[in-house]
Amino acid sequence: MTATVDHIHELRRLLPPNARPHDTQRITADLARALERGWTVAQLARECSRDLASTANAPAVVAWRIHQAADREPPTAPAKVRQPLCGRCEDGFLVDPTTKLPIRRCDCRKAAP
Ligand SMILES: [Zn+2]
Repeated sequence: MTATVDHIHELRRLLPPNARPHDTQRITADLARALERGWTVAQLARECSRDLASTANAPAVVAWRIHQAADREPPTAPAKVRQPLCGRCEDGFLVDPTTKLPIRRCDCRKAAP
């Protein structure tokens, strides 16, 4: 698998706005290598988004972390198998019909952590 424009766009979308790399060409090769190792874009976004609050140059940190991820295995925690939604809830939450705000976790999602 190679990094495509789509992968880079997806990664940028998942990152905090202040951490999005400006020069995406620089991360393309590292992103491709990380994906070849089995990282998913979502895993990379999580990895790159850690503890960015105190960094002065978040995009540089993100680029560096992608570079490092390209040289190691992705986290081994198995992806959580998500139960299908019941169809009565909004992505696992019961929503107040008036305010549209979530009220509580739906029964179909209670089993999942
Ligand atoms: Zn539900």
